Amino acid sequence: MYRGRIAPTPTGLLHLGHARTFALAAQRAQQANGVLIYRTEDLDGTRCRPEFAEAAIEDLQWLGLKWQEGPDVGGPHGPYVQSQRLARFQAVWLKLRASGLIYPCEKSRKDVERALTAPHAEEDAEPIFPPALRAAPVTDSEAQIPGNTNWRFRVPDGEVIRFDDALQGPQSFQAGQDFGDFLVWRKDGFPSYELAVVADDHDMEITEVVRGADLLISTARQLLLYRALGWVPPSWAHAPLVLDQAGQRLSKRAEGLSIHDLRAKGKTPTEVIQGTV
Ligand code: GLU
Repeated sequence: MYRGRIAPTPTGLLHLGHARTFALAAQRAQQANGVLIYRTEDLDGTRCRPEFAEAAIEDLQWLGLKWQEGPDVGGPHGPYVQSQRLARFQAVWLKLRASGLIYPCEKSRKDVERALTAPHAEEDAEPIFPPALRAAPVTDSEAQIPGNTNWRFRVPDGEVIRFDDALQGPQSFQAGQDFGDFLVWRKDGFPSYELAVVADDHDMEITEVVRGADLLISTARQLLLYRALGWVPPSWAHAPLVLDQAGQRLSKRAEGLSIHDLRAKGKTPTEVIQGTV
């Protein structure tokens, strides 16, 4: 049984790029006679807003997308809102800690920048965490919760992580080169995106992840988490990114290109999904 998902982050209004990616996810689920799950990824407490979560559901319903499980319709794998799943994420953190592959990290962003010999090229790319700043894993603690510290996953330096993408073809990323030790838990008390998504996709029995191609490297990280946890990963389909006229990636602040604004201008769902606006 195919189980797909759409997983918006309610930090702003959804735009054309989301419309296209989420419509593709819905289409692939439908073509496979499968189920589509809607999940709200609201772990960034300072930037997520309930009104954006509501607007996302409304905009996607207006586009004609239908899901069989989600915050508005319920389902057997709920809650479908990440901020309500913290206890589960802590349990997954505990399992990761037992694997000896994660360590508490007191280093600040400044420490990381100071330790880097070369500046990282792309401004939104995460700097590779310098191996010299690694700490030892903690496996013998009694603590049942992560506490107020960051935790990182130690990547296997030099190993090439490969996967086949249904839309982008064969992919490979080298640990330690293309990405470094990444956060699994944040000192503000929340899991990182990587941990939460892996836990949820596993628990919700997702068979194929459809999302934007900006997350290809994240998929390599997530495959390492699947392996550490002893879980079978889903298949992957990363949609090409929608660019604006200047060739830049659309951000959530893309003026006038939110589904909400396009709707107000009288555009149809088809025009929005196809990007002919
Ligand atoms: N929550 C992410 C977003 O809105 C998507 C993450 C994912 O699909 O894995 O961009």
